[in-house]
Amino acid sequence: MKNYQVIIGMETHVQLKTKSGMFCSCKNDPNAEKPNIYTCPVCLGLPGALPVANKQAIEWTIKLGLALGCKINSLSKFDRKHYFYPDLPKGYQISQYDLPFCYQGKVQTSFGPVGITRVHLEEDTGKLIHDTVNGKKVSLIDFNRSGTPLVEIVTEPEIYSSAQAKEYAKRLRQIIRYLDISDCDMESGEMRLEANISLQNIKSQISNNKSNSNDKLPNYKVELKNINSFRYLERGIEYEVERQQEILEKGETPVQETRGFNAEKNITYTQRTKEEAADYRYFPDPDLPPINIDKRWLGEINSSLPETLDGLFKRWQKEYSLKQELVELLFETADESRKLDGLFKQCHKEKLSVEKLVNAMVHKKVKTIEEFKKLTSVDDVSDESLNIIIEKVLKDNQKAVVDYRSGKTNVTNFLVGMVMREAKKKIEFGRLQKLIVDKIKS
Ligand SMILES: [Zn+2]
Repeated sequence: MKNYQVIIGMETHVQLKTKSGMFCSCKNDPNAEKPNIYTCPVCLGLPGALPVANKQAIEWTIKLGLALGCKINSLSKFDRKHYFYPDLPKGYQISQYDLPFCYQGKVQTSFGPVGITRVHLEEDTGKLIHDTVNGKKVSLIDFNRSGTPLVEIVTEPEIYSSAQAKEYAKRLRQIIRYLDISDCDMESGEMRLEANISLQNIKSQISNNKSNSNDKLPNYKVELKNINSFRYLERGIEYEVERQQEILEKGETPVQETRGFNAEKNITYTQRTKEEAADYRYFPDPDLPPINIDKRWLGEINSSLPETLDGLFKRWQKEYSLKQELVELLFETADESRKLDGLFKQCHKEKLSVEKLVNAMVHKKVKTIEEFKKLTSVDDVSDESLNIIIEKVLKDNQKAVVDYRSGKTNVTNFLVGMVMREAKKKIEFGRLQKLIVDKIKS
């Protein structure tokens, strides 16, 4: 890869877990028991049905935008995006075009920041299911998903490796789960990843001036679509980089197309070749009035935001020397982080080590201060102080020592019990047994 720089932009779709649909009052349930049980004229796209925007979905989209450091458009609107597909009965999807709710944000990765171009809100489509019924191959449509609030997060082409793409996507999921606006279950399609991948010939790049980098983007891009795991994202990008490099080395340009990832074969494959960018004929949805996000409303949304994740990790690092990679395994939502914060405060107040508590929580599944105390009392007794107790117990129980020496080794069970009673503490059996045997043999 000496001659090429990988350039990746990501588009991520996330279903919001609002109670009802984006433009109707149907139940929003990604795990509905049967197909087509939550539908109405609006989400089935029947003529004349009138959509009404879900306020909660709008507020959550803005909340996410704020958490990503985005600017918020004071005037936003919904647009119709026209295309034909069987899972889209209206013939258009309600989305946002030139006035998304949020724009110009940032997500930090260990490789550097990734710019967020926009965060907009739209409705999900129905779901096509390809099946065989009575020996015939058929395509079935489930409209339960139709009209589910769907947020799309688009990045700048500022991701430069498969590892960074994976880290970005994981970080985004962490932020969304923290806000508790989606569970981001990838297997059930609540979070879907897309990566636009191309290779830049470094030699042909005259300068590395970042402000010009957009003018010099490669003249093609390959869209890797519908990825439902971080591992597949990474592997798919790696495969694409190799494939595109081979084509470029031959002096050719990779075809601009949409590709999928086959996890069994570990390859990407052509799904759809686009001659030109599709013409969706966007125009403002006349059924939905523009949305004014005034200062008061924005202020209310802002004040409902939890402490930022970055701020939280920094604070815990400063107050308790906690490592982010460890402590982040212990919570997902802001609510859970607040409970954890309370536990840390209590632990600190009782002059116990929060660092040790976190270690115990991660590795030994400890959940409360009480469980932690029991565990620390085990760890806290030194070999030296135990040896003093052992000496006393052996002296008081000479018969057991004689029994042990004559081969009755199971008397150590009795001696372990005696030492624990003397120490008034629960001590790990194996450790104590070894200390006793060592003492008898010494
Ligand atoms: Zn509906």
